[in-house]
Amino acid sequence: MDIVEQIASGNIRAAARLITRVEKRDPEAIEILKQISVRSGKSRLIGVTGPPGVGKSCLVAALVQKFRQLDKTVGVLAVDPSSPFSGGALLGDRARMIDLTSDPEVFIRSLASRGASGGLSAAVNDAADIMDVFGKDIILIETVGVGQGEIDIVKIAHTVLLVLMPGYGDTLQAMKAGIMEIADLFIVNKADKPGADQTANELAGVQSFHCPSEAGNAWVEPIIKTSAMTKEGLDDVVDAIFKHHEFLETHEIFTKRNRERRTKQFLDILSHQILDEFMAELKTDPALQRWVEKIGNLELDPYSASEQVITWMKKARGSAKKE
Ligand code: GDP
Repeated sequence: MDIVEQIASGNIRAAARLITRVEKRDPEAIEILKQISVRSGKSRLIGVTGPPGVGKSCLVAALVQKFRQLDKTVGVLAVDPSSPFSGGALLGDRARMIDLTSDPEVFIRSLASRGASGGLSAAVNDAADIMDVFGKDIILIETVGVGQGEIDIVKIAHTVLLVLMPGYGDTLQAMKAGIMEIADLFIVNKADKPGADQTANELAGVQSFHCPSEAGNAWVEPIIKTSAMTKEGLDDVVDAIFKHHEFLETHEIFTKRNRERRTKQFLDILSHQILDEFMAELKTDPALQRWVEKIGNLELDPYSASEQVITWMKKARGSAKKE
């Protein structure tokens, strides 16, 4: 049985090994991904983001248990864009996840920022595809913070949960620009502590200024208070996730989001490959060397040089078409 079949038939070791190779951007693994990608598309992807310490990991662990009670198979991708270290260490820290790993229907992996820039969102896309083909109904993608790297990653998801906690109202304005726009559900975790209502109210206040980002979007992002400790509000989160999925499907946004994800993935892959190819040519192609020389001698600025190279490439493409 080849690797793809092994993964599709539920061989966890094959899936885990492929994710490790994909994280390292191993060229042979990329060959396997070509077959994986086109077989994916059944899983529901849920992004969980928010500042460090708000309880995302605890919440993810609690949500996994809820989904398991509903008989859903679950994958978790814990992603750390800021860490160059192997995910193993990250997972080791997340002791609370350990009791979940004894459930064979829960597949937990962490991915950290190894390899080239842009490599991590590529690896997350690919790992999600592998878990999808492996047969996970739900894939939770958890990131460590709310920076641009995290935003790019949770955008892969169909439903994005922004997690905050009491006392985080002040940071909302600062976060508004990026993360507020992509959040589909707002969660005020640690509601067992005082101040959750106030944070929820502050969220509601910020939300009223927030314009819907998709045409005809009637989805009003729910604000849910939870406690990963007492389990308060977790059923509401699961309900809201299912409602959001229904909303995406009835408004045909589900397909649109899937298409957008694939287009972005394609453009990322393409731009990296073009860059790699181009850099290789830059070293050897005399035509390109001419520009490099001129820029080096300050005879030409890099902006004009780039424009000239693009015109040159377009002409070359035009003559290739005629042939
Ligand atoms: P993350 O950095 O957002 O993933 O946060 P963690 O899940 O690691 O949690 C950070 C700390 O908050 C830990 O000490 C947790 O035990 C604690 N914590 C998480 N959820 C809750 C909660 O709902 N209530 C309370 N009181 N503490 C919580």
